[in-house]
Amino acid sequence: MRRFSRVHVIGAGLAGLAAAVRLADQGVAVTLHESAQAAGGRCRSYFDATLHCRIDNGNHLLLQGNRAAMAYLAAIGAADTLIGPVAAEFPFLDLATGERWVLRPGKGRVPWWLLDRARRVPGTALRDYLAALTLARAGPEETVADLLDRQSALYRRFWRPLTIAALNTLPREASAALLARVMAESFARGGAACRPLVPKIGLSESLIDPALAHLERSGAALRLTARLRALELGADRLESLSFDGGSESLGDDEGAVLAVPAPVATRLVPGLDAPDDFRAIVNAHYRIALPEGAPLFVGLIGATAEWVFRKREVLSVTVSAADRLVDEPAEDLAPRLWADVERAYDLPRQAMPPAQIVKERRATFAATPAANARRPAQQTRWANLVLAGDWTATGLPATIEGAIRSGFAAADLLLATPAR
Ligand SMILES: Cc1cc2nc3c(=O)[nH]c(=O)nc-3n(C[C@H](O)[C@H](O)[C@H](O)COP(=O)(O)OP(=O)(O)OC[C@H]3O[C@@H](n4cnc5c(N)ncnc54)[C@H](O)[C@@H]3O)c2cc1C
Repeated sequence: MRRFSRVHVIGAGLAGLAAAVRLADQGVAVTLHESAQAAGGRCRSYFDATLHCRIDNGNHLLLQGNRAAMAYLAAIGAADTLIGPVAAEFPFLDLATGERWVLRPGKGRVPWWLLDRARRVPGTALRDYLAALTLARAGPEETVADLLDRQSALYRRFWRPLTIAALNTLPREASAALLARVMAESFARGGAACRPLVPKIGLSESLIDPALAHLERSGAALRLTARLRALELGADRLESLSFDGGSESLGDDEGAVLAVPAPVATRLVPGLDAPDDFRAIVNAHYRIALPEGAPLFVGLIGATAEWVFRKREVLSVTVSAADRLVDEPAEDLAPRLWADVERAYDLPRQAMPPAQIVKERRATFAATPAANARRPAQQTRWANLVLAGDWTATGLPATIEGAIRSGFAAADLLLATPAR
């Protein structure tokens, strides 16, 4: 079979980078076209002039069980750039009661640890956890709140924060099937799969820069500030790509991976249906460095801040499904979230350090049953054009793992398709 010898990857977010890495590693010549001035898309680091240091676009947490993400990191030689506790542990603080606990799922697949009351979430009984089985049978139309007891402590202290963090959608509208998939790939596989990991330095240093260096070594070309304006599509194949600077015709042995966000893809590809409903994430970064021994992150219950991350030079807050906050002025949000940070890390009273609020209005597609049903497959009706992105039908919510899996799948489709 004659394979594609050159592939154009459009969009250098994680989906595009994963596709490019997989193709380049298989000996395909890759050209990566990215509209922005830097690669990384929604998962990148940059210098912030207010804080005078580099920050991440948003706090990103990976789990050891994210197998595509781990394979990608290994392929680009960056497996050792993540850090985390030696075993799965998630420290929490309930601001309403002042209780602190650490969720430590046992290593194995059978959750024996739930038999030990001291290891369960405070205020919960063993039977509460059986709800996970209901979730595993969730139908495509059901929401998380439809299936779980909203009055229970486990809902308030585990299911709700987990849903919002993993799906970036409130439980009353979040797809139960998508949460079930997250559970199947994490807690159901035991504590080892749940070990949390964060970049030692920053998102770009772990997930983006090593990929670009790997691609450069493989001879791939990276074109920044190259915005794709149109696709010229024939009856059954993509004929050419049209950029601001001119058009690029595709030879018989050339293909393309379109790894742009859903709204861009639906403008470029006729008849493409994709999620068009999005949810915001608000991040607050405070220029303060805590000692190495402090927890890498703390989950908050009953606060505006949901997670606080300790980075090298900043403490960073994440609020997901944050549409209620995006129109609030940064001057109001910064002190409000700082009060939660002080409590999360039990800081001595002090003036608020320099702060930066970053609002990402379209952080991810809304993980609702309706939006999930609209996610397209990677294959298109044009043999040499495939789609990638966290919004394609990966079965996962919009995550690093989903984006990378979509990129690998798109590359594999092209590798399995004969060139004309
Ligand atoms: C604040 C925030 C926090 C998050 N936290 C987590 C987390 O903790 N864990 C987790 O797993 N995931 C998290 N995510 C989700 C994760 O970042 C995304 O799922 C992932 O980065 C999506 O990658 P992608 O390649 O699909 O899309 P994108 O990153 O959006 O990449 C698309 C790329 O296409 C480019 N592009 C757009 N139009 C064109 C065009 N016309 N021509 C050429 N290029 C174009 C864009 O510039 C961009 O670089 C978070 C996201 C945000 C925003």
